[in-house]
Amino acid sequence: MASIFTKIINNEIPCYKVAETENCFAFLDINPNAEGHTLCIPKQEVDNLFDLDTKLYNELMMFSKKVAKALKKAIPCERVAMSVIGLEVPHAHVHLIPINEMKDVTFRNKVTLSKNEFQDIANNIKSYL
Ligand code: 5GP
Repeated sequence: MASIFTKIINNEIPCYKVAETENCFAFLDINPNAEGHTLCIPKQEVDNLFDLDTKLYNELMMFSKKVAKALKKAIPCERVAMSVIGLEVPHAHVHLIPINEMKDVTFRNKVTLSKNEFQDIANNIKSYL
């Protein structure tokens, strides 16, 4: 069965898209730690990030770097943190999280955003890409 992220890529489930290339896709996390929390994924459905072939792994890292740079410009923050967890969705993904302090990467503090806020944030990040 296709992962929830494959369904997002295929437009079967809506998302707030940030960026797309031939092999990678970025969209806002639906339950964000902070405004701008973005997920970068390979289009190929592989569970574990470290099982990606080297070429696609490097491509995803370069893609994540580009999105992180745009994120830093779009969202005022101390840093953009990068985290790989994967306990919930078995489709490799890189979390990019604008942070100001350690608690922003604990995945315990969550922010609630309206549809309009999500859309504005996605548009803002896109404008720096
Ligand atoms: P992990 O697998 O790294 O533990 O967490 C998966 C992440 O994907 C979580 O932060 C969760 O909020 C996010 N997520 C799960 N389902 C969806 C979804 O349908 N849409 C979006 N945009 N994010 C999701």
